[in-house]
Amino acid sequence: MPYPTQPTASHFVDGAYLEDTAGEVIEVVYPATGEVIGQVHAATPAVIEKAIGSALRAQEAWAALAPVERGRVLRRAADLMRERNRDLSVLETYDTGKPLSETLYVDATSGADALEYFGGLAGSLTGEHVPLGQDWGYTVREPLGLCVGLGAWNYPTQIACWKGAPALACGNAMIFKPSETTPLCALKVAEILHEAGLPAGLYNVVQGAGAVGGALVSDPRVDKVSLTGSVPTGRKVYATAADGMKHVTMELGGKSPLVIFDDADLEAAVGGAILGNFYSTGQVCSNGTRVFVQKGLKEAFLARLSERLGEAKIGDPLDESVNFGPMVSAAQREIVLGYIAKGAAEGARLVYGGKVLEGDGFYLQPTVFADVTDDMVIAREEIFGPVMAVLDFESEEEVIARANDTAFGLSAGVFTRDLSRAHRVIGRLKAGSCFINSYNDAPVELPFGGSKMSGVGRENSKAAIEHYSQLKSVYVRMGDVEAPF
Ligand code: NDP
Repeated sequence: MPYPTQPTASHFVDGAYLEDTAGEVIEVVYPATGEVIGQVHAATPAVIEKAIGSALRAQEAWAALAPVERGRVLRRAADLMRERNRDLSVLETYDTGKPLSETLYVDATSGADALEYFGGLAGSLTGEHVPLGQDWGYTVREPLGLCVGLGAWNYPTQIACWKGAPALACGNAMIFKPSETTPLCALKVAEILHEAGLPAGLYNVVQGAGAVGGALVSDPRVDKVSLTGSVPTGRKVYATAADGMKHVTMELGGKSPLVIFDDADLEAAVGGAILGNFYSTGQVCSNGTRVFVQKGLKEAFLARLSERLGEAKIGDPLDESVNFGPMVSAAQREIVLGYIAKGAAEGARLVYGGKVLEGDGFYLQPTVFADVTDDMVIAREEIFGPVMAVLDFESEEEVIARANDTAFGLSAGVFTRDLSRAHRVIGRLKAGSCFINSYNDAPVELPFGGSKMSGVGRENSKAAIEHYSQLKSVYVRMGDVEAPF
């Protein structure tokens, strides 16, 4: 493999790299060139069994450690990730095709933030004392046990850390299955965690597609499943988990509204719309892909947007001056091209892009449709690519109703100079992760997650602790027990 930090085998199990060539071959394709740059093997039942066995063996002792000791391991891992940020970012770029100008700032760094944050929090995960008159009670915050993480392909390092860090801080073990499209980065996360002192078995990475994920989710020894993926996968995984009464976190898709009022700062609003539609070549779950622009600002918005899109530098993602890379795979680009064709056929006005770039990489121009109406497919379905739909609106009441008219509820944004209106509108938008005069910020200190079909549970912040631990309550009687007979 051409990159500096290649993982040395397909899986990371029980504290070491592990190979089993009996598993189906999964090719690793570099999206910028279409070249096969490596391969991994899907986990066989033997690999899955080894991962589960080692996790169960290690978890009790990990949970029994002093919490600050658990935290120290995570904080050491955060330091190692930051020291190796460039190598990890290059690997992320090979795995996903996202430009290095992004991966240097939002992938391993965001993973390190999660490790540092939850490492710091580990020592403060306490229960409470509950006075009950003469008697009293107390609660103990306990780990769930064995957690399974299933990752999407758009942020493989970040997702591996956002799930692993709170799970480990709370005293759980984790088995993480990356997307088969981006199998490499999570292996480096496992390697670094163990180098930082994590005991063997507590963070295992196994490769494979849906079948391997399904085997993990249905295993009765697994206590919790955290999925980042699409709504259809979420439905299946949630149903399987429910059968075993497992805890779940579901971080799913969206079709989020970004509402731009006439009085917005035009430059800021255009910047927000660009960040919320074209960062990571549009492959971001929380993207504000329904951009509602109030009629008075519409033409100025479209003109300035087109100008700024003309400044995008599309090309080799390893060139740090490039800021728009290829899509993750040929298959994903085909899906997005299908939506572009549907938008045109339904009568939306193509104002920018829409074309594939010549060459072997999976490039597609940033694309903007205007005059989009609420009933069009491109305004209703998640496209998961660089396609922005611009819709017009006149009044605040109208835009709130239309913005909420979706089954999704991941994110929402508002651009306006009127602060009361900003808070009023955000207060009525049905979404989990919202932005005022900004878009797509995801600091570890704030909860992240969706409502409605976009998911269940929250990642990041103290809220994530609720999803990786449970309370034991203990009643303590101080006097005699009075029984009826
Ligand atoms: P998928 O839903 O296709 O896959 C997600 C993960 O689940 C993959 O690892 C996949 O394996 C695995 N999987 C698929 N089927 C099953 C199954 N039956 N049982 C267990 N595991 C299974 O999502 P994508 O990878 O295509 O990612 C894109 C989607 O993720 C978009 O909808 C996007 O909005 C969403 N997403 C949500 C985020 C959030 O935080 N809310 C953040 C990022 C993305 P494999 O792919 O190898 O088959």
